[in-house]
Amino acid sequence: MKAKPRILVTGAGGFIGHHLVKRLKNDGFWVRGVDLKPADYEASPADEFALLDLRLWENCLKATKDINQVYNLAADMGGIGYITANHADIARNNILINTHMIDASRLNGASRFLFSSSACVYPQYRQKDPDVTPLKELDAIPADPEPGYGWEKLFAEELCRYYKKDYGFETRIVRFHNVYGPLGTYEGGKEKAPAAISRKVALAEDGGEIEVWGDGQQTRSFMYVDDCVEGLIRLMASDFSQPLNLGTDRLVTINELIDLVSAIAGKKLKKRHDPSKPQGVRGRNSDNTLLNQVLGWEPAIDLEEGLGITYKWIESELRKAGRLPAVEARQMAG
Ligand code: NAD
Repeated sequence: MKAKPRILVTGAGGFIGHHLVKRLKNDGFWVRGVDLKPADYEASPADEFALLDLRLWENCLKATKDINQVYNLAADMGGIGYITANHADIARNNILINTHMIDASRLNGASRFLFSSSACVYPQYRQKDPDVTPLKELDAIPADPEPGYGWEKLFAEELCRYYKKDYGFETRIVRFHNVYGPLGTYEGGKEKAPAAISRKVALAEDGGEIEVWGDGQQTRSFMYVDDCVEGLIRLMASDFSQPLNLGTDRLVTINELIDLVSAIAGKKLKKRHDPSKPQGVRGRNSDNTLLNQVLGWEPAIDLEEGLGITYKWIESELRKAGRLPAVEARQMAG
């Protein structure tokens, strides 16, 4: 019988990486997690967890020793505010991580390397309308990606292709479209829209007001983290080495997202739009034609269901931190 592969997840202390480690452990794999920091909200179930800075070559060699499959999720990243304000740091840190990780994985004899790219590689000239045409994988070129973060991801995709062509190294490239779910950052500047909105709605009084970045008419599609992890595992098992979208194709405005979260919370809230805040491209959606062809599958978890789970988790974290009244006190007051 063939032995099960030994798996490395980098960024295992982060949002998607932590969920992926949990799923791989449930599926019975041996897993090493690596990150700059431990997982934030619960202990990682990885068989080994190493705190290593993967910008450094020798740490990438340590991380990839005796490993068969690499999910390279480590990256310096955050929501639109963070990636707009930190072009140099993000580009430098991620170029170092990705260049060293792919080469260390190859030299240490890994059989597969999956790179986590982003919908931020798509050209800004195709994303000027909220009613955007869903983006197909080939639309990435001619290039005009998100400054900093998007350029770095696009070049790392190219690097994967060069390693496949020149060394026959088996690479997989996934382009995530807005992943959300519990156990992810929800404040401090690195959080993304669904988590930031859930926090703002949870902290607002019923009938109160929340701040919205831009006019709220900007559109995106959102994928629940369990679908993301399922897609990652399917892509790794496939023989497809070109970039592949991984997201949903249900387009919603940020205003609609706020209305969905408010309905989950049972609150009526006014929106105070702040046009001076960064809002990224005007519209972005995933074309899932190729995803369906390659994997025979696409993300299916309903936005309302996923947001419900995410909102409840963020609300309970705020309650634990004493920033919302305890449940019993609320019930008594009601
Ligand atoms: P995250 O920030 O929660 O996780 C990334 C992890 O990488 C963090 O825990 C961080 O500490 C770690 N890291 C950063 N620099 C490191 C270094 N020098 N050495 C070791 N570890 C380091 O982000 P996430 O949402 O889990 O994203 C995972 C991957 O998916 C990233 O590559 C990201 O660019 C990509 N992605 C995510 C989304 C999304 O919506 N979440 C969208 C597009 C792409």
